[in-house]
Amino acid sequence: MNIVLMGCPGAGKGTQSAKLQDKYQLHHISTGDVLRKEIASESTLGKQIAQIIDQGNLVPDKLMISILEKIVSTTDKDIIFDGFPRTVAQAEALDGMMQRLGRNIDKVIMITLPESEVVGRISSRRQCRKCEKILQIGPDESEKVCPECGGELYTRPDDTPERVKHRLEVYHQDTLPVKNYYAASGKYAEVNGNQTPEQVFEDVCNVLEKVK
Ligand code: AMP
Repeated sequence: MNIVLMGCPGAGKGTQSAKLQDKYQLHHISTGDVLRKEIASESTLGKQIAQIIDQGNLVPDKLMISILEKIVSTTDKDIIFDGFPRTVAQAEALDGMMQRLGRNIDKVIMITLPESEVVGRISSRRQCRKCEKILQIGPDESEKVCPECGGELYTRPDDTPERVKHRLEVYHQDTLPVKNYYAASGKYAEVNGNQTPEQVFEDVCNVLEKVK
């Protein structure tokens, strides 16, 4: 079962992907994590893309598609795509690449979240540099260390309120049309993301159980 998880920034794609990876033994591809690793490695590519990401813009389709194609071709496992596709061109490319590999996308799940929730959620979000786990911290908490692996927790540079506002604009303009692309194929379902992670996960699993 190959799954695409969609949703605006802060909707919970990363959190749900990690849970799905465990439950269904999927290969989790988070394009955001892949790009952040590339930046951390200080490679030429990493240097090229750092500014784009920090400003909340999308990495050009051609580059993103070639990065993804390399990762997809290295695994035989079923995949959960987290953060890809983010444009209709990427969705078309993903269909083409899956077809060439004799695979297909089985389900596309959109995790919905009211925009009024987004900035608050993201400003209390921290990510672990080591294991990439995403955590929500309370208003009085200042955790600096990942409770899972002891790695350093940090606030992503693109998680400031101004950048989040811009990322939402980009999401509306470039990513929401992807919803119509998949709705036309009958593979599309929505889950309410404005619940606890456990409740969202239950709803996501209910959608997936109908596919199996
Ligand atoms: P994420 O961790 O999914 O929120 O992604 C963080 C950032 O990485 C995005 O705001 C984009 O700058 C970049 N990015 C991630 N996935 C893609 C993609 N599929 N296409 C273009 N840019 C992407």
